[in-house]
Amino acid sequence: MHKMTIAELDRGLRQGAFTSVELTRHFLARIDRYNPRLNAYITIDADRALEAAERADSQRRSGEVGPLAGIPIAHKDIFCTYGLKTSCGSRMLDSFVAPYSATVVERLAQAGVVMLGKTNMDEFAMGSSNETSWYGPVKNPWDEMRVPGGSSGGSAAAVAAYLCAAATGTDTGGSIRQPAALCGLTGLKPTYGRVSRWGMIAFASSLDQAGPMSRTAEDAALLLQAMAGFDPRDSTSSQEAVPDYRAELSRDLAGLRIGLPKEYFGAGLDAGVAASVEAAIAEYRRLGAEIREISLPNSPLSVPTYYVVAPAECSSNLARFDGVRYGHRCQEPRDLLDLYQRSRAEGFGAEVKRRIMIGTYVLSAGYYDAYYLKAQRLRHLISDDFRRAFEQVDVILGPTSPTTAFPLGDKADDPVAMYLNDIYTIATNLAGLPGLSLPVAQAGGLPVGLQLIGDYFQEGRLLNVAHKLQEVTDWHRASPPGFE
Ligand code: GLN
Repeated sequence: MHKMTIAELDRGLRQGAFTSVELTRHFLARIDRYNPRLNAYITIDADRALEAAERADSQRRSGEVGPLAGIPIAHKDIFCTYGLKTSCGSRMLDSFVAPYSATVVERLAQAGVVMLGKTNMDEFAMGSSNETSWYGPVKNPWDEMRVPGGSSGGSAAAVAAYLCAAATGTDTGGSIRQPAALCGLTGLKPTYGRVSRWGMIAFASSLDQAGPMSRTAEDAALLLQAMAGFDPRDSTSSQEAVPDYRAELSRDLAGLRIGLPKEYFGAGLDAGVAASVEAAIAEYRRLGAEIREISLPNSPLSVPTYYVVAPAECSSNLARFDGVRYGHRCQEPRDLLDLYQRSRAEGFGAEVKRRIMIGTYVLSAGYYDAYYLKAQRLRHLISDDFRRAFEQVDVILGPTSPTTAFPLGDKADDPVAMYLNDIYTIATNLAGLPGLSLPVAQAGGLPVGLQLIGDYFQEGRLLNVAHKLQEVTDWHRASPPGFE
């Protein structure tokens, strides 16, 4: 049961081959067995999961339901969940119980999903390896000595090890796509504004977007269908109508113009990853796509631009954690200043503190023009590169990450090496464009991700291009040894 896609589980539930309660118990048993090893979940909510499963079963018996009814999934612990601990991977929120649910959580609940629990993540979504979590690192099911990627590493490991059918993630600079790549999943970061950010704990508000992490593009389409759409509670959410993503999946690829940015295939790209991406390009040629080389000349500026903009926004967003209203409070503060200082010093980890310091610095009087304003200008140049590229091609294709999963601890003491892991994913966030990672042929026994980038609101096209590849290959069917 656990290896089935959402679409297959939906058929099984419809035909009465099993019930949602049985399915939920099965996943909960797997979580009991494997989670102590992988550390993918921070919180498991068996009671509420079984209640939701019973509700879904009775809905299925009594009439027409959508394809997500009774499907067990997990939410990244960045989404507020009513009445349930929502930690964001931080000691700061270790005792925080959310008083309301995020729009994403609410909409998926309305579609009938069963929430099994909340997944581990880098602290406040800052990281690419899941090693900055207050709850300890997550292990990659493909090799438990390696990282699952980050920041949505718990979601990625949970889906890859079949501890849920799919999961939610968030992506500020690659946090859905990079862990999807390192764990062999399909992960979609939608256009900025496509999915509501309400109730999603803010990291960098102009970059953050929620999206699905699943086995297949078809499953991602089903999840995005429920997640996407305007939300009056998020002023940055888009009014653009939500298309029928599943209906778009089977479009023929003949004549599709795929652009390969030459900057994404240069120095720094692992040879094994490059070979896997080449094999996928050959498949796309066979499917009738036309492959062209393009250029995104400002690509080398995306990492430095991001590491000004994201810390600036995070330093402002994280100012709310002051030990007064909610979150960690130090013991017996001497005075107000001591309360602020010690609560924040104790509540935040090293990476979060580093970002707050960088962000505060680049926003301070005298440095604002030199750093923050300049970064905003570079952001425009990066967006213009994509605008020009989409005049020539329909989708852009490249690797998701320069390497496969790296060993735990390998980059933990070298922030710059860690930041470079997102070199191919960050520009998409700076421009607000949608990006999708899907698994292709493995390299050295480890998953490799192929990234597709689309024009604004072209999620349907990306899912279509991914789905067509998944129809003719079985790369997305590989299972981590020991978790079958
Ligand atoms: N790895 C990047 C960072 O550390 C991106 C994280 C994310 O997308 N949330 O900021």
